[in-house]
Amino acid sequence: MMARPFWMRLFRPEPVRAVPGVHAPAGPAAPATELDLRMMARALDLAREAAAMGEVPVGAVVYRTATGEILGEGFNRREVDKDPSSHAEFIAIQRACAAARDWRLNDCTLAVTLEPCPMCAGLIVNARIGRLVYGADDPKAGAARSLYTLADDRRLNHRAEVITGVRAEEAAGLLRAFFRDLRRGRGV
Ligand SMILES: [Zn+2]
Repeated sequence: MMARPFWMRLFRPEPVRAVPGVHAPAGPAAPATELDLRMMARALDLAREAAAMGEVPVGAVVYRTATGEILGEGFNRREVDKDPSSHAEFIAIQRACAAARDWRLNDCTLAVTLEPCPMCAGLIVNARIGRLVYGADDPKAGAARSLYTLADDRRLNHRAEVITGVRAEEAAGLLRAFFRDLRRGRGV
């Protein structure tokens, strides 16, 4: 089969492929624990709070992996804060660091209803988060699996354990309902 001419690649980007030695092996990740499921329920509640404020519904919780102690919570507040960094998990991580009096969160898990964006995946690495548990994939901005694999890229100096698809249908359902209502409100 002939290679596609370069100009065709401009129109249809190559699918993202795992690079051996760079990306984590594609083998099955450890399953979510009972504690993870409880924390995701809390993150979903936080996402609903965001929706009630007219914000895109995403919620996040940072907790100690061993004990379940919650160190920080957050939901998306981009509109109310007028701040592009006011993502649910960004806020939750900042609060967790303040509570822990430490910028390193190796012994913590972040549960977030939507796959983190590049900014938040970068913060997960910089904060040395031990585990990332997320709900719905984000094909448009996801940087943990969908577009990039920043949270466990072997080239970076820290890798989180990544667990995907936890209560994904509910997380995605909240987002779908939010955007449907938004379109109705605008009469489109
Ligand atoms: Zn983000």
